Amino acid sequence: MLDIQKNVPLARYTTFKIGGPAKEFVAVRSEDDLVEALQYAKENKLRYYILGGGSNVFFDDKGFDGLVIRTESNGEINLLEGNQVECWTGENLSDLVNFAKNNSLSGIEDLSGIPGQFGGAVRGNAGAFEVEIKDVVMSVKVLDISGEKPESKVFSREECKFAYRTSIFKKNPGVIILSAIVQLKDGEKAEIERKMKEINRKRIEKQPTGWYGCAGSFFENPTVEDPGLIEKFERDIGGKSIGGKIPAGWLITEAGFRGRKLGGIEVSEKHANFVINTGSGSAEDLIMLVSLIKQKVRSQLGVQLKEEVNYVCYQLVC
Ligand SMILES: Cc1cc2nc3c(=O)[nH]c(=O)nc-3n(C[C@H](O)[C@H](O)[C@H](O)COP(=O)(O)OP(=O)(O)OC[C@H]3O[C@@H](n4cnc5c(N)ncnc54)[C@H](O)[C@@H]3O)c2cc1C
Repeated sequence: MLDIQKNVPLARYTTFKIGGPAKEFVAVRSEDDLVEALQYAKENKLRYYILGGGSNVFFDDKGFDGLVIRTESNGEINLLEGNQVECWTGENLSDLVNFAKNNSLSGIEDLSGIPGQFGGAVRGNAGAFEVEIKDVVMSVKVLDISGEKPESKVFSREECKFAYRTSIFKKNPGVIILSAIVQLKDGEKAEIERKMKEINRKRIEKQPTGWYGCAGSFFENPTVEDPGLIEKFERDIGGKSIGGKIPAGWLITEAGFRGRKLGGIEVSEKHANFVINTGSGSAEDLIMLVSLIKQKVRSQLGVQLKEEVNYVCYQLVC
């Protein structure tokens, strides 16, 4: 029996700490729970929103006029034959990374320090330091709710259509990730541990510390066509752009927004693609500031930035 709660503040379920209450809220820990929650939403004519760890999303200040379905841990991270691991969507990605390390399995340690759940990482093809979740995902089990009845399906890695910070799941809200199998390889626990420490050191060096008050990089790193801008970027950093990609943080800095503040929201001094809620920030402040950034980057540098972070408005019609 699901425990459906009413009027639940959503800010506490996002790392941004932004958002008003959900009209209704339910935690799900299995496929059966999820099917039941979706059925409840249908019967009660409620729009619904699937929430994972809330580290890549912010809600409207008014909240959400429907049912928020939050996937949560059921402890299902299972070692299969041939160094494969099957993981439920609601497990923390960090728990999967630690599970792999404890079993001396390598391949996923570079994703150490990325907050959120496994399913959220698969949907957005989370990645860091040149490694992405797509590098290890073999197959993804989903609940397809686009037809008459919810149906379980398995997508092969190719069918997932992974690309930079995206997958087929991002474009198909009617498909909800249940679990996935990752292929790892034999490694040495001490070496995996060393790599994880190194990754965490790099994160502390480059990013504001802590998981709270932001959602990581706000914008995707765009591919730029202007050779003059690429040249300027390369001169500035003393390095090369890979395939025309320029970090959004560099463009935001060029447009003069590093360290700038609007209401309770500020562009980080340390990493200009991190937009931070200083404590009193609202969704309205955030939307205004990122709109200003987008306008200025477009008019001054001719680049259209695209949000990596998801905004959920009150009635999901934004
Ligand atoms: C400090 C910090 C650092 C970060 N660093 C990185 C980084 O290095 N690399 C990186 O890629 N990201 C990074 N992020 C962003 C974020 O952690 C990732 O995008 C993460 O994978 C999101 O997972 P989540 O469970 O929190 O998703 P949520 O924020 O809960 O949801 C994100 C989206 O996925 C959808 N979703 C969630 N679960 C499912 C499901 N089961 N089925 C279908 N859709 C689903 C939601 O509806 C939503 O649209 C960082 C965030 C923070 C706060």
